[in-house]
Amino acid sequence: MTRLDTAFNAHTPLIVDGAMGTQLQLAGLDDGGAPELWNVDHAEVVEKILTAYVQSGSHAVTTNTFGGTRPRLAMHGLEDRVRELNLAAAQVARRAANSGSDVLVLGDVGPIGELLEPLGTMSGEVAEAHFAEQVTALVEGGVDAILIETMSDLGEVEAAVRAVRSVSADIPVLVTMSFDTNLRTMMGVTPAAAVSALSAIGVDVVGANCGRGLDEARQIGEQLADARADNVRLMISPNAGLPELIDGEFQYTGVPDDLAAFAQEMTALGFDVLGACCGSTPEHIYAVSQSLTT
Ligand SMILES: [Zn+2]
Repeated sequence: MTRLDTAFNAHTPLIVDGAMGTQLQLAGLDDGGAPELWNVDHAEVVEKILTAYVQSGSHAVTTNTFGGTRPRLAMHGLEDRVRELNLAAAQVARRAANSGSDVLVLGDVGPIGELLEPLGTMSGEVAEAHFAEQVTALVEGGVDAILIETMSDLGEVEAAVRAVRSVSADIPVLVTMSFDTNLRTMMGVTPAAAVSALSAIGVDVVGANCGRGLDEARQIGEQLADARADNVRLMISPNAGLPELIDGEFQYTGVPDDLAAFAQEMTALGFDVLGACCGSTPEHIYAVSQSLTT
């Protein structure tokens, strides 16, 4: 039995942490700066954010490695530091997880940042090799599972899943796609199509993250639940509402109670994993945790 299975036996739904990027921006990450660099240069800040999520009731924390593939790091001139930054991220997340009891570490994998064939020029094999490089370092750093998130292209997801399997035969894999374009991904994938395709390639958890606010997330959650397959669990991590322009800056306006109400609805639909994406804070996760345990 994997540590993820053990966690599901102890907690249904399993509560995952909230946003990292917006929290790092509050701590001083510049627009256009590389969040992954903070795993080394400001590791204590990353650890503090993840520890706050643990204290708020998260059963799992996510490594600060959303842009940790070589093509994404190359946008910051960091292409030679893939192993170092991902390994450090796993170790920082483990320290934060150890501040709680039996808290899991999910190794975060985001989109590679380029279109794959046939729309783009990168082949699935090259993408797979980039994902494998990142996942190797995350697994070496001791993550309990891999979370592939904010995906739009099923072909890219499949390359990432093949990469995970080339590194580890049995580490659990969670996949969430972003249905942000009329309830489909940018590439036109529906929630039902995602469940169907991903349950067939052996991932453990399928779902949605990010997107466009709680009203759309609710509809996506219903579609995922309707399409549920026997061999996969369901996950949803919406943003903290919709961003609004306030004092010249985009801010997410969903309050913790909004997310708590959403979490209760998704629990009633049978969701197994609940998280939160952009704009969410430890206060949001605390409200979710409280609403499900009282
Ligand atoms: Zn998001």
